[in-house]
Amino acid sequence: MKFCSACGGPVELKIPEGDDKPRYVCQSCSTIHYSNPRMVAGVIPLWQGKILICKRAIEPALGTWTLPAGYLENGESVRACAIRETREEAGAELTEIIPYAMINLPFIDQVYFMYRAMLQDTNFQPGFESSELKLVSPEDIPWQQLSFASIREVLKHYCDDLKTNQFPFREFSIKPEHRY
Ligand SMILES: [Zn+2]
Repeated sequence: MKFCSACGGPVELKIPEGDDKPRYVCQSCSTIHYSNPRMVAGVIPLWQGKILICKRAIEPALGTWTLPAGYLENGESVRACAIRETREEAGAELTEIIPYAMINLPFIDQVYFMYRAMLQDTNFQPGFESSELKLVSPEDIPWQQLSFASIREVLKHYCDDLKTNQFPFREFSIKPEHRY
């Protein structure tokens, strides 16, 4: 950050009084510009034991497979974001939407919140961000071609939980060395 978004004045990186971390502080209007992690909401969409996955038509990770997920918009609930992302990326509607995992990625300042949900029907089609969609059985998940560690780890947990058919809410962190 170079300039203040409030007044256009120059900013400097410094620790404000009473704080313990450096922040961008405007030298003209003194506004403190905080930067905080971003949340991504997503879904494991299920249909008759299969998982709907999406091939990415955009960077990053173009051409790899992912689950519907994306950044929360201001004023939007986490659940509404997951529903919207599924509509945008897969043209699909969800039902039985159940919280499933919270994944911390502190090294990239992101938090993922993932749901499990049922597809309402098989009316789905790739949106702008997807080039292809497919329903895969858990044993056919393309593990080597998944887009992100968060997606890989949540799918691993899901496949583990399938063995007992119990799906407790999970909270975990991904370490930098496991990011790919
Ligand atoms: Zn300013």
